[in-house]
Order: sequence, then C-alpha cells, then structure tokens
Amino acid sequence: MTIIALAGNPNAGKTTLFNELTGAHQHVGNYPGVTVEKKTGHYRIGNVTYDIVDLPGTYSLTAYSLEELVARNFLVNEKPAVVVDIVDAANLERNLYLAIQFMEMGVPVVIALNMMDVAQKRGIHIDTRKLEELLGVHVEPIVARRGHGVPELMETVFQVAGQKSRVTTLKISYGEDMDLALKEMTAEIKSAGFLVDRYRPEWIALKYLERDYQVLDLGQKHNPAVAQKLAAKAAQLGRHIQKTTGADPEAIVADQRYGFIKSILNQGVSTTQYDHQRLYMSDKIDLVLTNRLVGPLLMAAVIYGLYYFTFTYSEIPIGWLEGLFGWLRGLAEAYLPDGLLKSMIIAGVIDGVGGVLGFVPLIMFMFFGIAMLEDSGYLARVAYMLDRVFALFGLHGSSVMPFIVSGGIAGGCAVPGVMATRTLKSPKERLATLLTAPFMNCGAKLPVFALLVAAFFADHEAEVMFLLTAVSWLGALIVAKFLRITAVKGASTPFVMELPPYRLPTVKGILIHTWERTWQYIKKAGTVILGISIILWAMMTFPHLSEEKAAVFQKERQALLATAPARVTRAIEPDNRAAELSEEARALQDQINALSGREAEAGLRYSIAGRMGVALETFSRFAGFDWRTNIALVGGFAAKEVVVSTLGTAYSLGEVDPDASRPLADKLVAAPGWRPLTAMALIIFTIFYAPCFVAVVCIGKEAGSWKWGAFSMVFNTALAFGLAVLVYQVGSLLGF
Ligand code: GDP
Ligand code: MG
Repeated sequence: MTIIALAGNPNAGKTTLFNELTGAHQHVGNYPGVTVEKKTGHYRIGNVTYDIVDLPGTYSLTAYSLEELVARNFLVNEKPAVVVDIVDAANLERNLYLAIQFMEMGVPVVIALNMMDVAQKRGIHIDTRKLEELLGVHVEPIVARRGHGVPELMETVFQVAGQKSRVTTLKISYGEDMDLALKEMTAEIKSAGFLVDRYRPEWIALKYLERDYQVLDLGQKHNPAVAQKLAAKAAQLGRHIQKTTGADPEAIVADQRYGFIKSILNQGVSTTQYDHQRLYMSDKIDLVLTNRLVGPLLMAAVIYGLYYFTFTYSEIPIGWLEGLFGWLRGLAEAYLPDGLLKSMIIAGVIDGVGGVLGFVPLIMFMFFGIAMLEDSGYLARVAYMLDRVFALFGLHGSSVMPFIVSGGIAGGCAVPGVMATRTLKSPKERLATLLTAPFMNCGAKLPVFALLVAAFFADHEAEVMFLLTAVSWLGALIVAKFLRITAVKGASTPFVMELPPYRLPTVKGILIHTWERTWQYIKKAGTVILGISIILWAMMTFPHLSEEKAAVFQKERQALLATAPARVTRAIEPDNRAAELSEEARALQDQINALSGREAEAGLRYSIAGRMGVALETFSRFAGFDWRTNIALVGGFAAKEVVVSTLGTAYSLGEVDPDASRPLADKLVAAPGWRPLTAMALIIFTIFYAPCFVAVVCIGKEAGSWKWGAFSMVFNTALAFGLAVLVYQVGSLLGF
C-alpha cells in the first residue's frame, strides 16, 4: 500500500493532523526494536487508500537522537510516496531547517504550513506561493486543529504521489571550500557505488562532513577502503575549516542552512509587523548594512577603502621589490657573459617575471582585504544588495557570486568564477553569467592596472581603480542584457541567496586565506608566466637581424668612433667608465647609445613577435597602441599577467637606456607615444578582451560547447577593441 509519512518538529501539529486524517482508524505500536511510538492509520481519497504514518517529531536529521534515527531510517527503508512536512507557520525559520534537510536527503516533500491561525494572530504574514516558488515544493496552508485546508492538502499529496518524479532536491552552497570537497567526495561516492542504493551521493558526502556516526558505520561495513578515503577527506577539510573559521564543519553547515532560510524569508515570504525575537545581532547589523539607501553607499565606501588601503600601503614594499629586481639585473648585467643567455635572463626572466612578481605586495594586500570581507560575511551582503540590480539585466541573483569570485571587487579568477555558475539552475541565465564573468577584474589584470595606474594616474590611484571596477561591472551587465535579448533569450527565474550570520573573522583564518591566494599568484608567476615569458622573449629575439643590416649599424658605430679624438674614445671604454666623463665624451656616448637603441629597436621589429606587432599596428593605432603594446596584448591571450611581463621584456630588449634598471613604469612614462589616455585605452582593452586561455577552455567546458569558448574570444576582443578605440578617439578629441 502507498505510504504517506507525517514529519515535522515536535509540537508542529503532526498528531493533530494525523487524527484529523485517520479518525478512528488508528493503530498504535512501536518502531522495530525501539520504544518510540509508531501510529499508523488509513486515509481514503478517490479510490485509493493511503497508509498514514506519524513519524516522531525532530528538529533535524542528524544521528544524535533516537527520534531522528527512527525518522530517517523509516524514510530510507519504507520509501513513503510523499512526506508531509508539518511546518509551524509561527516558527517558520526553525521549522524550515528540517524541511530543507528532507529536500537535501532527496525524499518527496509536501509542506503543510500549519498553525496559520497562530501566525495571523501574531501579525506574521506568509506568502505561501512565493515560498513554494523559492523552495520548489508544494506548500499548503492549514489549520490542523480545525481541519482547515486539510482536503486541499491531501489533494496535493494525491497529485504528487501519482507523479513519476516527485523529488525536488535542494543544493545549498556551504562556502567555496566545502562545496569543492563535497563535489569531490560525491564523485568518489558515485564512482564507487558507495551506499547509493540507500542514500543520495550528495547526502552521503554531507553526512561524512557532519561526521554522522550512523552513515560512517554503514560505510565502514559496506566498503572500508572508500569509507576511509572519504573520512580522511572530511577530516582534512574539517581541520582546514577549523583553522580558517575557528568553527566545526557542522556549525558552518548549520549557519549556511539558516542563511539560506533567512534569505528565503527575507524575500517577502514572511513579513512581520514586529517580532523582537528575530531581530538578533546579525539582523540588526543588516538593517543598516543592507539598507536600500545606506547599504550601497557603505558598500561603495568599503570598496573604495579597500583600494585606498591596498594602493597606498603596498607602495613601499613594491618599491623594495623593484629595488631587488633592479639589483639582480645589475648583477646579471655585470657578471654574465654577453650573449643569448644573458639576454634571456635579463629581458625574459628578470624584466618579464620580475615585473609580475613586483606586484606581490599589492596582490597580498588586496587578498587580505577581500579575505576580511569574505570571512566576516560582508561579501555575502554585497552579493545580496547587488542581486536587486541583476534581475534588471536578465541575470539571476545567484550570478553575483560567480562575478565576485571572478574578481568583481578585485583579484579573483574567472576559472572558479565560471565554475561557480553551476549553482544557477536556468541554463540561459547560467550561460549569460559565465560569458560575462570574465569581464571582472581578476588577479591577473591587477598587475596591469597597478603598473599603468601607478605610472599615469599616481595621484588618483584608488579613484581610478574604483572607476575601473564600475566600468567592468557596467560592461558585464550591459553585455549580459544584450545576450539575454539576443543569443540567450529566455524568461528569468526567482532566486534564493544565502545570508549567513556575521562572524568575527579570526586573524589566523585571514592570514591563511591571504597566503593561499598570494602563493597561487607567486606559483603562477614562477611557472606558467615564466614559461610564456621565455617563449615571448624568444619570439622577440628571433630571427636576428640579417648580417648585412647588423653590419650597417656596426659601420655607423665605427664611423662615429673614427671621427672622435682618441682621448675621447678611450674615456668611454668600459674599463675607464668609472671616471667622470668630459662633455665631449658624454656627447659621443649619447650618440652611440642612440645608435644602439635604433639597432635594438630594428632587431625587435624584425623578430617574429615584432612583425606581428607591427602588422597589428594598422588597426591598433586607432586605439593608441604601438607595436610593442601589441606584442604584450598578444601574449595576454595566454594569461593577462603576461601583458606586464611582455611590456617589461619589450621595453628591455628595445632599449639602451643609461638607467636600464629603472622600473618599467618609469620607462613607459618616458617612452614616446605614452600618455595617460594611451594607458586608459590599454586598461579598457585589458578589462574586456578575450579571457585567458584556461578560462576559455573552462567556458567551453561549462557551456557544453567549444563554440561558446570561441565566441568569448572573438566577441570579447572585438568589444574590447571597439571600446578602446572609442576611449582613445574621444579622449584625443577632448584634448587628453
Ligand atoms: P505533534 O507533537 O507534532 O504531534 O503536535 P500536536 O499534534 O500534539 O500539536 C501540538 C499542539 O498544537 C496541540 O495543543 C494542538 O492542539 C495544537 N495545534 C495543532 N494544530 C494547530 C493549529 O492549526 N492551530 C492551533 N492554534 N493549534 C494547533
Ligand atoms: Mg505527536
């Protein structure tokens, strides 16, 4: 016979509803092996008779109490056609905690919203349709004691019981670290077929994190090898969570569930005239921080503060690193024998990778600030406030997190950002999100901005950085809107956002998060960027100038030396350099330097990369980019940091600067053709052009077709070029 189970918190009204449904047809016994009372009875609807079972009341579905275990085992062993979750409408928040666990577990749920009379008396208004929409399950308001709404409830139960796919599963985000671990564990569980005949793989993984002893025991008996692997993974994550947040995984899980529920309720599901109980700390803070007027202003102030702090205080350590690389350059200059190796080490490694590594302090400061915002729970509020805006642009509230992960405030990465779009259920909204998330200012674009902003907008660093953030968001949103009315048309879906309670971040947690991300950056600079930098150096070095051309420069040099008196030529020989140069000698030296500069430039132009850069100049000059910049931008297709390292190499190879070891920023300011407007056009281009190679691959994978990867490369680059030209041309007209 078909079983319908009644579940819910103690005192939610299960027994009252049970009596209402079964009348006199009751049977009272015990659950097998335990002294928990089990009531069963019958209910007829149409020509079907249901077996109704009153489950013990529980607040959660852990293995801590007998009632919970009994309820849980009943659901797994007896597989009721529908679980009617009786929810006390006057205590919605606490009661939904159980409801979402049923959904996570994957049982078919219908919510009976009981005690509607009590809720009404207390001035709580509940929008059941909205709740239904946000949770994705049926919600029927009832007053069990008077039988109100019960026939309608049973009609719904009847309908759901007759459906083939009755289960709406719920996936709550438990934060980046945990979600990732859960995903890996779920994959492991699926591939090993571990307990999957009893439970959903996702649920098993979650229970391992929660250290649910019943599931652990079962797992150990079922397959010790897999069980141990899962337990080890869970323990490792547990330690990481403990270290970074100072809390147990169980506590975080509970926090996130309550955050999820609260965000549902905050979206107009539950409105109260006044209810002191719910205005606890977090809510009180949120009254200000997420206020419609004050909230966005404070958010802008916080973000501006972050940029100000980062740019101002990282300047000093950046100076030290620049000094260090200048010193290394000097050493290489003095002690390495002339030749290709020397050129590669100086131009490719020190000036290329050094340029990227030089920004480590800035990256570190930025990550430090972001870690504070994230660990305290403020970042979730930023997302919450922004998602009001998102619907206007055809995106979903859940699109905010992928944007922020991609670098929405600063210093993220589009790769995890694109993957974070998996939380979006609607494929259209997901596609629009993952195509626009790469416009955010990821950690790789930061050194490009840092370089150009420090060089050309030194007096307004924080303001310009703030402006760039606004530009990237605005661009992303407009493109999203454009996509949503053209290529990825479709209706939007309602959203649910998690607002976990505020937490005081721990110093240790912040330092760990800061260091983890900074180390990623350093590692990338030392491996991928080093590799690309050397390849680009080679492209900028080969082929060498033909012998005839080199001979022309050589002849010119000899001619210069021949015309000068011997005492002057002797003075500028390397061995006599230390001495103060006479006016005549200095003039000769300058002439020779200029000649060598021309030779180096001719060499760079003649190389593969140089030819590409020169060829591209045909178009790029409209955006103010010369051929050297083009080389850097081509390199940036691989990874955006490469823009900085390549500029470093290009300006290192093509120069004979009396002060060659000075920072790249100073070289750019001195270089002909460079002015603030050029820098701005280059920055705009960098924000919008093709995502780096890894991100493109990721976009192709996540969108389900490499075509979208190709689309993002072509479309973004065209857009970026259009915008850069616009900025440069309009700026030039205005006299900048
Ligand atoms: P159980 O622990 O879930 O079985 O809850 P009960 O069925 O024993 O109900 C707990 C209390 O709530 C009892 O006093 C019921 O009379 C009362 N109750 C149940 N449903 C309603 C309702 O819809 N409105 C009101 N005002 N009280 C109800
Ligand atoms: Mg009861």
